[in-house]
Amino acid sequence: MCVQVRDGQPLLAGLQKNTLIDFPGRVGCVVFFTGCNFACPYCHNPELARGAWPQRITLRELIDFLQPRRHLIDGVVISGGEPTLHPALPELCRAIRRIGQAVKLDTNGSRPAVVEKLLQDRLVDYVAMDIKTAPDHYASPWAAPGAGAAVVESMRLLMRGTIPYEFRTTCVRPFVDTPTVAAIAGAVKGARRYTLQTFRTVDLLHPGFFDGADPGFSPSEMAELQRVVAPFVGECLVR
Ligand code: SF4
Repeated sequence: MCVQVRDGQPLLAGLQKNTLIDFPGRVGCVVFFTGCNFACPYCHNPELARGAWPQRITLRELIDFLQPRRHLIDGVVISGGEPTLHPALPELCRAIRRIGQAVKLDTNGSRPAVVEKLLQDRLVDYVAMDIKTAPDHYASPWAAPGAGAAVVESMRLLMRGTIPYEFRTTCVRPFVDTPTVAAIAGAVKGARRYTLQTFRTVDLLHPGFFDGADPGFSPSEMAELQRVVAPFVGECLVR
């Protein structure tokens, strides 16, 4: 489906003007869509996930920001919320690529048909996909129905494709433990890169879910998870 974004129509909820860490090998900026079909209790962008942050940046404003910075910025990270929920995502990617910028997509992997179309149409240059837990542990109320199967399909699409990608898991109990990470490692066996992200307590979507406990993993526990995953993938990072 081709959706035209009308001039002056707000599209994005936010713009982070530069990043050296979100788009591997590039100096980038990050744009944020609002709204998500998951409700991860540890979500670090709760206002965006809830859709409580209004769309206020137009495509024209984004292009006007990027055009004069073509020699400073060489990539745009499209994040959220969940970008694949938005019908205007392909047009946004096309507009960014038209001015010579590379596109990285951050996704929760729940919309494999959207990911597939973006790959087919060569509208993305890099995809970072979150894997929240083992595929058969995706469950209501935080995940959409059928999310586990959808995530597996997105994993397969990226692993079969030709563009760079990474899978990543934020290590938060009870979504992650050693058997869970082993199950994920089996599901992404042969993947080029898998990143285990250290949970940092900030502004959470559902702080009450954790009942005051710290659900994160210590550095030595992260290293143990890395040891479990490393034999299955090309590169396993902890950050
Ligand atoms: S962590 Fe990502 S997938 Fe989960 S609710 Fe937040 S934006 Fe959505």
